[in-house]
Amino acid sequence: MAKDKKVLVVGGGGRCHAIVDALSRSPQVAKIFCAPGNAGIAAQAECVPVKDTDVQGLLKFAQEQGIDLTVVGPEAALSVGVVDAFRAAGLKIFGHTQAATRIESSKEFAKILMDKYAIPTAGYRSFDNFDEALAYVNARPFPAVLKYDGLAAGKGVVIAADAAEAEAALRSMLLDEAFGKGRVVVEDFLTGPEFSFMAFVDGERVYPMPLSQDHKRAFDGDKGPNTGGMGAYTGLPFITKEDESFALEQILKATAKAMVSEGCPLSGVLYGGLMKTPDGIKVIEFNARFGDPETEVVLPLLESDIYDIFEAVATGRPVAEPKWRKAVTLGVVLASKGYPGSYEKGAEILGADQVDGRVYHMGTKRDGDRLLTAGGRVMMVVAEGKDTRAAWEKVYAEVAKIRCDNLFFRRDIAHWALDGKVLDGKALSNSIKDSLREQVSKLEVKYGRKPSLAVIIVGNNPASQVYVRNKVKSAIYVGMNSRLITMAEDATEEALLKMIDDLNRDPEVDGILVQLPLPKQINEERVIDAIAKEKDVDGFHPGNVSDLWLGRPCTVPCTPKGILRLIDESGIDLAGKTAVVVGRSNIVGKPVAKLLLDRNATVIIAHSRTKDLKAMTLQADVLVVAVGRPNMVTGDMIKPGAVVIDVGINRDADGKLCGDVDYVGARLRASAITPVPGGVGPMTIAMLMENTVESFLARVEPR
Ligand code: NDP
Repeated sequence: MAKDKKVLVVGGGGRCHAIVDALSRSPQVAKIFCAPGNAGIAAQAECVPVKDTDVQGLLKFAQEQGIDLTVVGPEAALSVGVVDAFRAAGLKIFGHTQAATRIESSKEFAKILMDKYAIPTAGYRSFDNFDEALAYVNARPFPAVLKYDGLAAGKGVVIAADAAEAEAALRSMLLDEAFGKGRVVVEDFLTGPEFSFMAFVDGERVYPMPLSQDHKRAFDGDKGPNTGGMGAYTGLPFITKEDESFALEQILKATAKAMVSEGCPLSGVLYGGLMKTPDGIKVIEFNARFGDPETEVVLPLLESDIYDIFEAVATGRPVAEPKWRKAVTLGVVLASKGYPGSYEKGAEILGADQVDGRVYHMGTKRDGDRLLTAGGRVMMVVAEGKDTRAAWEKVYAEVAKIRCDNLFFRRDIAHWALDGKVLDGKALSNSIKDSLREQVSKLEVKYGRKPSLAVIIVGNNPASQVYVRNKVKSAIYVGMNSRLITMAEDATEEALLKMIDDLNRDPEVDGILVQLPLPKQINEERVIDAIAKEKDVDGFHPGNVSDLWLGRPCTVPCTPKGILRLIDESGIDLAGKTAVVVGRSNIVGKPVAKLLLDRNATVIIAHSRTKDLKAMTLQADVLVVAVGRPNMVTGDMIKPGAVVIDVGINRDADGKLCGDVDYVGARLRASAITPVPGGVGPMTIAMLMENTVESFLARVEPR
């Protein structure tokens, strides 16, 4: 095969860089031009200063240079009719005609097509009148999906949570004409994971590409504003073979056929933005071109000659089914700080040439030898691995080589595939409380009285007041008798000890809890010692503590007991496993370590002064962190597959509750992890209820 073909690629972002990169691997391609290209593309193609929507300029260039095939990247070029113009001039071009591009450029065209040909999608109605649109939206459940019917550079979709948001969006689209004069499509809100399914389409011939998923939100944990895409990966964990073949047959092929029937056959890339809803796979949107950033992770897997595929589609000739490497790719976008809002350009980027993998440029510029940022999304680093974990480790090792003061990136690309299970302490504690509630009602019938808990709070520490209220609320829910005793901030130790003594003697009281910390004039140790051992439902009494360590029957302290239940919930068998406890307080760290030892785990107790804590935590099959310091444990300190229990309760810089563990980073490596809040906290209260019932039983049914 002669290597003599000249190709012109229209476009200039990361997607076009990936197309140029794929073309550069073709055995037929001798020369690639890119209009307008970018600083990265310039290494593989000759960039020509013609705008991607300058149809006449592109045509003139292709004719003068004797271009064999033109490939169109962006939708803007397609929708101004570049393909129609090239074809009229007898030139070969890969991309849809203006009429076929309506599948992307007109939301209403796509909706009518899907309706007519029974292609699964969300129900919808379209409006050009503001009042009618508003009335329709307000008469339906929120959230409402509002789509501007036209090209809006990815910004024309609003998910309105309530009437006010919907009104503002409709006002901007229909009255202020923020994107120009147009209509708005109002769609049903669907739920489920979204994914991208692209195919090369030539009339009814559909050649599918590997599935991929992008990450739209700016920040880790899918937080922050929507962007053009902060990363993508292939090898989706949530799509089965059956899902994939359904989507291929009932969506992509059905759409290709429908377009032929409508007299506007496709001849380029059909991009299905799909969602796996509880009612099956549905279309969210169609695009008439390669997706960005999906293309950057999909095309590197192509083993076949892409020139051959492009040329076949452009000329309407059948081609062999393209071959794709059975590996996983993962790409991370580096964006300018501030993006998708305002950001600065011109920051120097160092180290991009040291990356072992693909670096696709999105918004960069050369200044002599220096590489500078020149856009919101600046570049995308793509790595390949045998599985998602391998690709993830590799890509972030490569991203770390790039140094620039003004770039940020997400650390959790592919988290859908990697995230550990969330150990939902709230749900577990609710089910424990439900079964205790049942038990308590039976106990009342059997013994003529209910278990009873006395909670004492001294002073007005706000956190203590919240804890105490929650404890009493739970006791009421479970059906126990509860007594809340409030003592003033300046109460004396003597008065408190007297109160405890009375409760110790009261035959109707089964459990006594004194909320800690206590005001300074009161000695906590003396108070804990004063509570009768058999009524000490917190498990802090020295009698209970020593019995725990001696392996005798005792009241197990609530938080450690709850932690063990959460570990069990993860399904791990502790015998023979390595457990690391970070924290050594008497009420969490030490008793947890003892309970883990009792379950035949090998236990390492570490604390904030442990030298090289990471070397310890990396050994942990089970990691319990109870120090009270945010980010004490970061994602890189977690052994892949570990069960992570975060006990800490802290406030972050924004005043939001957080634990001791970097949740997003750790969840990517852990097989299971507790959230904060909603993990250990609720379990502590459920165990307090359980301890009170046990204390009641020990009193009414003495051993
Ligand atoms: P403490 O403040 O009692 O202990 C934290 C650290 O203090 C220890 O790791 C150790 O730090 C030092 N320390 C405390 N006691 C001793 C001791 N006897 N000997 C030596 N060092 C000691 O915290 P907790 O264990 O009560 O709680 C840790 C975190 O967990 C906090 O954020 C707390 O709010 C939270 N928590 C959450 C609960 C829940 O229900 N979710 C329940 C209980 C606590 P160092 O190694 O630095 O010396």
